[in-house]
Amino acid sequence: KTPLRVEFVSSGMINSDLPPSTVPEFALVGRSNVGKSSLLNYLAGQKQLARVSNTPGRTQTINLFSAEKGEFLLVDLPGYGYAESSLSTRAHWQKAMQEYFEKRDGLFAVLLLVDIRRDIQPEDEALSRWFQQLGLKVIAIQTKCDKLHKSKWNTIRIQHAKKLALTPSQVLTVSSDKKIGLPDILQTMSGLLDS
Ligand code: GDP
Repeated sequence: KTPLRVEFVSSGMINSDLPPSTVPEFALVGRSNVGKSSLLNYLAGQKQLARVSNTPGRTQTINLFSAEKGEFLLVDLPGYGYAESSLSTRAHWQKAMQEYFEKRDGLFAVLLLVDIRRDIQPEDEALSRWFQQLGLKVIAIQTKCDKLHKSKWNTIRIQHAKKLALTPSQVLTVSSDKKIGLPDILQTMSGLLDS
């Protein structure tokens, strides 16, 4: 499968900064440093679409990308859970994300990124349940799978699914570095768009 055709649309701090939703929207969310920018670049087959950085916790914006010539949007959201972010940064993140997830019209699915090597954190669990309560489709994506032997992927998938209140089929495994997992993600996304 070829990558998605993706173009940057705009960015903003809160919903009112963003153009109105007219097509279905997939939100990408995860802890800082989980590999979200790298995944976006991998999905798009581009090196420079999203910034890959070693400085997590910096002030980030909501970035909108149009995919497949406007068929749907990909929304890159600020990372969370950076240990050294200040209380005001966290409060701002919470407020902006609450507004985004509760009110954004076109939003229908969330790609929740988790590091395959790390335990699911309370924040990840809470977010997964909250997204489901809001009626959003949730797909968890285990990132950086090149860092863990393939024989362990399935066991971790089952553990992560349970913690996130998802079925194992709602958990995908990816490596942006080694280019593993793109076909599964694209197939799952198009399945959600057709459902
Ligand atoms: P973000 O903060 O979630 O946007 O994460 P980034 O995409 O900036 O990646 C954070 C760090 O993880 C960087 O050092 C990346 O090179 C590394 N990284 C991202 N994806 C992968 C992957 O698939 N495999 C490995 N081994 N490292 C990755």
